[in-house]
Amino acid sequence: MAQTQSKGSPDTEKTYERLPGLDKQLIDTTSDPCTDFSQYACGNFSKLYPIPNDRSGFGPGAMVAEYNQRVLHMMLEQAAEVGSDRGPNEQKIGDYYASCMDQDAINHKGLAPFQPELDRIAELNSKNELTSLLAHHQLVNVNSFLNYGEQQDLKDARKQIAALDQGGLGLPERDYYFRAGEAAEKTRKEYVQHITNVLKLMGEPESQAMSDAQAIMQLETALAKVSMDITSRRDPQNVYHLMPVTEVAGLTPDLAWTQFFKDTGTPPITELNVANPDFFKGLNTLLSSTGLPVIKTYLRWQLINSTPSEVLPKAFDDEHFDFYGHKLRGQPEQRARWKRCVQATDGALGEALGQVYVAQEFPPSSKQATLQMVHDIETAMDQDIDTLDWMGPATKVRAKEKLHAIADKIGYPDHWRDYSKLVVVRADAYGNAMRAIEFENHRELAKIGKPVDRGEFGMSPPTVNAYYNPSMNDINFPAGILQPPFYDPHATDAEDYGHIGAIVGHELTHGFDDQGRQFDGNGNLSDWWTAEDGKKFEEKTDCEVKEYSGFTAVDDAKVNGKLTLGENTADNGGLRLAYIAFLADAKRKNIDLSQKQDGYTPVQQFFLGYGQNWCGATRPEQLRVQVQTDPHSPRQFRLDGVVQNMPEFGQAFGCKAGQPMMPANYCRVW
Ligand SMILES: [Zn+2]
Repeated sequence: MAQTQSKGSPDTEKTYERLPGLDKQLIDTTSDPCTDFSQYACGNFSKLYPIPNDRSGFGPGAMVAEYNQRVLHMMLEQAAEVGSDRGPNEQKIGDYYASCMDQDAINHKGLAPFQPELDRIAELNSKNELTSLLAHHQLVNVNSFLNYGEQQDLKDARKQIAALDQGGLGLPERDYYFRAGEAAEKTRKEYVQHITNVLKLMGEPESQAMSDAQAIMQLETALAKVSMDITSRRDPQNVYHLMPVTEVAGLTPDLAWTQFFKDTGTPPITELNVANPDFFKGLNTLLSSTGLPVIKTYLRWQLINSTPSEVLPKAFDDEHFDFYGHKLRGQPEQRARWKRCVQATDGALGEALGQVYVAQEFPPSSKQATLQMVHDIETAMDQDIDTLDWMGPATKVRAKEKLHAIADKIGYPDHWRDYSKLVVVRADAYGNAMRAIEFENHRELAKIGKPVDRGEFGMSPPTVNAYYNPSMNDINFPAGILQPPFYDPHATDAEDYGHIGAIVGHELTHGFDDQGRQFDGNGNLSDWWTAEDGKKFEEKTDCEVKEYSGFTAVDDAKVNGKLTLGENTADNGGLRLAYIAFLADAKRKNIDLSQKQDGYTPVQQFFLGYGQNWCGATRPEQLRVQVQTDPHSPRQFRLDGVVQNMPEFGQAFGCKAGQPMMPANYCRVW
């Protein structure tokens, strides 16, 4: 087992400041931007900021996340002080955090808090009783066999419906169970060893733990066999099968579905989406052919494996990290406990913590400036659509309708989530985590049959990220990303357009990538393209599929051009939209584009700003996981892969046609 350190490690306690909008220290001036732009823009980053031992990769985004954690840490330490005049939200976030930090109390209790859950599994007398237990597992996020929740109806976004999906695996994705090659076989072997270790910690003798782990692996492999792979799941048509509730019984007759919906507290339903019906057919075969003792062993494993590891006794927590953090992702050291507890509190009570965060860290001026930039970039897209030579007028009208219907959500929600019914008890880390999970699942399931709340955010305000949601047709920028280096009030406009402007453009373009383009302005899955334009879109994106499939991430692990297509389209479209908006802004302000400032022209600053979004490094183990599970390309290709497609880049840096960053043939969708 890996040695984990929570105190005194230079890495886990190192503090990071936010980088400025353009950091010239990061630039490797000895390299040629036309040959290798990521080396030029970011060559010194990893020398100045090597990957900390408690991370599997590092870059400017992770630095902001580290900075944010420190800010939240101070807020939580203060909220944790009992006796102070705490409001109800401060009591909750303070006590949630303090309970998580109390590892002695967690260790002292051992597996006692789990005993009621373990008893429920032990008391299963027949497979007929399985349904109620699976319903309960869904409410406490135990990943047993399947996934159940709520979603907007993909074809009628006004409706919130119940949704059943595949689930039940312990490895990151279904292909992990079948992929050939040394690395994949090693991971499977280590996974079985990990299950064995966990079962031993639960009290099983070695030989039994070993054979149980094999049986669990066999069962998960059979589940994986009937699961849909991650690339096929990108197409929304593949995961949409609306059916009457009665039809689910035809797929998996061995489960009592009426009971299941009742036990999960689902409001009355007549129909639901079964994302992958083949899985539910296969699940039935599996449930009938697997003996009850194996099912019970599997459920015990899933129970422990699904529990947030920071509330597990230390031996379990260390073992969990050793496989999922160290072996799978190459991370040398566990993160400091306070960082994990800050993150856990954000996960459980993000909008309570977020209120304190926003009041302190997010001035109205940042919201104002971001909104202005969003409008500029939406205008840029409007103009861009006009100039597209491959799209016909009818599709253009529909594309603009969709663009104009996009809602812009900046910083934090107008209405904060009400946590008054969630009970947080000091010194009960496990109970707090379970109650928070159940609270959230009930909140989600209660939406079924109700009108959609369009103001809701899917990320907490401190999150350093952003997203587009096709069913909502909205772009969302939590406050956490609207700070330096991404948005820096002290940077030049050119740098800000390259940084946050490209991110805004990225989210906007998601509305028009291989997935987003299948949804209309109302958020409904419906084809608004003429057949000819749809075909042309696919030809355009094929170019990107080929380009990115040519990139090698590590050893034999190549980028999957189909899996990453949406993100690559968004990266490419996003930078172009930011560029159009930046030029318009410069024109408005009468900025002389030939005038160098600090050694760089405004256009060069724009591209350097973009490039420095993607500085940093990723450990090889994590790179392998990334290309197999993550729709985002590795950082180097998010940079080089994009500027190669913009001749404007080559012109700005004086590159010659045919140099690596200025190829003769390049891809362009938007
Ligand atoms: Zn994206």
